Amino acid sequence: MSSTSLDAFWMPFTANRQFKAEPRLLVSAEGMYYKSDDGRSILDGTAGLWCTNAGHGRKQISEAVAKQIHELDYAPTFQMGHPLPFELAQRLVKHSPEGMNHVFFTNSGSESVDTALKIALAYHKAKGNGSKTRLIGREKGYHGTNFGGISVGGLGNNRRFFGSLLTGVDHLQHAWTPENIFSKGLPDHGVELAEELNTMIQLHGAENIAAVIVEPVVGSGGVYMPPQGYLKRLREITAQNDILLIFDEVITGYGRVGEAFAANRMGVTPDIITTAKGLTNGAIPMGAVFVQDFIHDAFMHGPEEVIELFHGYTYSGHPVAAAAALATLDIYEQENLFNKAIELEQHWQEALHSLREYDVVKDIRNYGLVGAVEFHQGDKLGERGYKAFNHCFWKENTLVRCTGDVIAMSPPLIISENQIDELVASLGNAIKTL
Ligand code: PMP
Repeated sequence: MSSTSLDAFWMPFTANRQFKAEPRLLVSAEGMYYKSDDGRSILDGTAGLWCTNAGHGRKQISEAVAKQIHELDYAPTFQMGHPLPFELAQRLVKHSPEGMNHVFFTNSGSESVDTALKIALAYHKAKGNGSKTRLIGREKGYHGTNFGGISVGGLGNNRRFFGSLLTGVDHLQHAWTPENIFSKGLPDHGVELAEELNTMIQLHGAENIAAVIVEPVVGSGGVYMPPQGYLKRLREITAQNDILLIFDEVITGYGRVGEAFAANRMGVTPDIITTAKGLTNGAIPMGAVFVQDFIHDAFMHGPEEVIELFHGYTYSGHPVAAAAALATLDIYEQENLFNKAIELEQHWQEALHSLREYDVVKDIRNYGLVGAVEFHQGDKLGERGYKAFNHCFWKENTLVRCTGDVIAMSPPLIISENQIDELVASLGNAIKTL
């Protein structure tokens, strides 16, 4: 890259000036490892950005993509069709919770979220309940960066530069309490926080509320697991009040927590699930929104020649993306990867919690193959997180992710126990420098 100027690319969610002074560049990838531009093998502790669940460089996927692009590069799915998204949807719903047999395709997590919110609003209207328009998100929630997603999202920096956003949105408080510090798996305390939804219903009236959206496991907001029973309680309250429950599974989908979806593992079935990332193993952008049959069916009345939902993207169900997703699904099924995170969970948990011995460590959280190590704040918020992340990359040849003073990890599901030990040891070395 030495002859290439880094100036023209305005990088997303990046301190551009800092990055460009000391760029961290990845040039190839295979299995559990990236290769950096200075020739080092970097152990991937983050599955890219929570997306390469099956590991890197999977030939089955790249060959399927190459074959598809030669055969049918593009075909519209507005009033036209081609076989791939039909086949993909049919195969995907075998893994989704019961009753969720319909899929709407998008190109990203953000588009999946906005699609889900729009379907929720249009559903109530289709049922004759047009006053149900309010949306409820949660503090610390991350639901992508489109306007719907940042409106229901609960991260100040992602919202406050961008005007008034959607009106009629409330936020539940985030579901983590100090008693849960150093919990393993789903924490014991905090189920009562779900009752706040009842307060909102009393305040606004169930007849005015369309949907509640939460991440089953909070990802970008700092990696927080839901308290035992919390999601189940949200489900009960939403069901009693004809409010749709949306799980944003953009990071937890496709095996991250030990089953195809967190909903399956947690035994709580929402009405809508948003996904992206692991759907194609990150190889081609694609998202998928799963909906309960009763939602889909609510649109299938009226004159047949009328479009049921005025929503969609030029690339919804794109043939090349769908081919990548089908090949990815083959791998997940053949290698039983959806269950891999449960097999590795105990080892992952013990390895991570060994870092508790360091004084700077404030909390450790884990579930499936998701982990977070949070530091006590140093002089400035996020300084220790960034320092640990940078040390891992340059000195330990490992890739972790920092959000503030939280180091988040979500390795590909093909990671070995030895590689888990290596990853955690590298973070331990980074912590010693703080
Ligand atoms: N929802 C969640 C829970 C996410 O973690 C993300 C991405 N990190 C998104 C939505 C947005 O996905 P994308 O960046 O593909 O738009």
